[in-house]
Amino acid sequence: TTDAPPAEDISADDIFIAVKTTKKFHRSRLDLLLDTWISRNMRQVCPFTLLQTVCIRSHAINTNCSAAHSRQALSCKMAVEYDKFIESGKKWFCHVDDDNYVNMKTLHTHTHTHTLVRPVNFWFATGGAGFCVSRGLALKMSPWASGGHFMNTAEKIRLPDDCTIGYIIESVLGVPLTRSSLFHSHLENLQQVSKSEVHKQITLSYGMFENKRNIINMKGAFSVEEDPSRFKSVHCLLYPDTPWCPPQVTY
Ligand code: UDP
Ligand code: MN
Repeated sequence: TTDAPPAEDISADDIFIAVKTTKKFHRSRLDLLLDTWISRNMRQVCPFTLLQTVCIRSHAINTNCSAAHSRQALSCKMAVEYDKFIESGKKWFCHVDDDNYVNMKTLHTHTHTHTLVRPVNFWFATGGAGFCVSRGLALKMSPWASGGHFMNTAEKIRLPDDCTIGYIIESVLGVPLTRSSLFHSHLENLQQVSKSEVHKQITLSYGMFENKRNIINMKGAFSVEEDPSRFKSVHCLLYPDTPWCPPQVTY
């Protein structure tokens, strides 16, 4: 026997995914996500894509949070994400940034075995890899996370939004976070993720480190020049029937 919660069948429709973004990244980041993983998961994602000032899809949520990259502005968005999740009635809440690729096929086969999945670098990173919280746990967080409480909690500890989530779960509620090595941020060396392992990963990212690209290590459908994030190549690997993917050569 184990302490794991009883396995429950989770379908993609049970998951609420909030993508944090801001107007200045709509072109450079969000369009890529809409063309790739979000296009296959509209029902899960689009209603909850959090935008700052402009609604580019009818479902997107304008948070009215400040456009600054301040701690207050970011926790304002996280508070909206949390409240929208509670309202949605869904079973799992997942949060990602707009520089993450979410592999939905793998995400929902993993959520039912974990009370919470999140990056190993949680306490030191400003998010960037994503995390998920079950509904049961999210409801217990309510006194510190719902309505205006999230902002107050974040102000009290003076830490970023994702650290506030961790603080409420681990320090206030005493629930240990389940670390997962399948969530990736650009604060780690993404070269260590290879093409053969892409299918298993839950989130991916891309970025720059010391003036060099920090991207996953894969030869794919598109060159690095055509696809600097590698997300288009990842998407063609996971969904080869996508119309804009080059035809598969089979022997
Ligand atoms: N972001 C935001 N408002 C801002 C700047 C960034 O909401 O003024 C969001 C951005 O869209 C992303 C997250 O915050 O989802 C992290 O931003 P970024 O990747 O630029 O920074 P990092 O913390 O990863 O270095
Ligand atoms: Mn980032």
